[in-house]
Amino acid sequence: MTLKDVLIIGGGIAGNTAALYTARASLEPTVFVGLNPDQLSLTAMVENFPGFINGVLGPELVGNAKKQAEKFGATYINENVESFEINDGAFTIITADKTYQSRTVIIATGASARFLGVKGESDYIGKGVSTCATCDAAFYRDREVVVIGGGDSAMEDSSVLYKFAKKITIIHRRNEFKASKIMQDRIFGLKDKIGIVWNSAVEEIIGNGQFVTGIKIKNVETGELSELKTDGVFLAIGHDANTKLFAGKVELDQQNYIITDKRARTSVPGIFAAGDVADPTFRQAITSAGTGCAAAMEAEKYIENLKANKKY
Ligand code: NDP
Repeated sequence: MTLKDVLIIGGGIAGNTAALYTARASLEPTVFVGLNPDQLSLTAMVENFPGFINGVLGPELVGNAKKQAEKFGATYINENVESFEINDGAFTIITADKTYQSRTVIIATGASARFLGVKGESDYIGKGVSTCATCDAAFYRDREVVVIGGGDSAMEDSSVLYKFAKKITIIHRRNEFKASKIMQDRIFGLKDKIGIVWNSAVEEIIGNGQFVTGIKIKNVETGELSELKTDGVFLAIGHDANTKLFAGKVELDQQNYIITDKRARTSVPGIFAAGDVADPTFRQAITSAGTGCAAAMEAEKYIENLKANKKY
């Protein structure tokens, strides 16, 4: 088996940026693209990636980054990584088909937004159901939206939407928010446009086949069912870092995100992490591209050091 220089797990914008940089450094990276789409590929228009005056479609941004990396010699494998092992001085990645070994690994497996799992939800993703207010708020100018959740994300999403939407209704399953006091107070101060429905769970997302038109909610205390008209449903019920493969192998924080230093290095020399898998805070395309670049440059440096120390 050939011992590669760089294997990259994840084909989102972080993984593709890492691939571009390591390919341009002649490290011939191999990128494993899982079967679940990355978050940008689920986003319609990206209007905040610098350099695109009129915005860029999420799938186009990711697809172009991949083509750019391929142009410089990156190889893509469309297979889920089934297991990941750390051996003495090398890392092993096993897919359903094959086993690969490498001197460095860049983990860019992202984070997945949590979904409610209710009827209608999967039919309207990208058609009124969104998990990213920063990405999609501007499409809801003068329209009515609901935000589901009671944490900091729900508060932040509501303030982002406040700039565009005509009316925002936060639906929370309890009678108090989990969010920090300062963020709650900000929302309570925006009563002119933001309403709150407490103790309520979404039962169904309703649409006309093209787009969301409303939601069915249930008061969890009284059991009463009601319908609420809305143009958009913003889910803010948390994210899960895709780190199952790496638990017990690299250090994770309490929320299961990979811990990195400022140079994208994990607790294991030779393993780097980039993008949302190591970022519970920003979760933006541009920050993911940035850490993808950092991880690639550090992987290159790591390999140069191996060569300098005759360990290559
Ligand atoms: P959190 O886990 O903090 O909050 C999730 C919210 O969604 C909770 O209110 C929870 O309800 C609710 N929820 C979870 N599952 C369901 C469900 N199935 N149905 C209905 N409601 C549900 O996630 P966040 O994304 O808000 O925040 C994650 C981390 O990121 C936090 O540490 C937060 O502080 C940080 N963050 C910081 C920001 C900032 O400082 N600017 C902005 C955004 C996030 P319940 O309360 O009942 O558990």
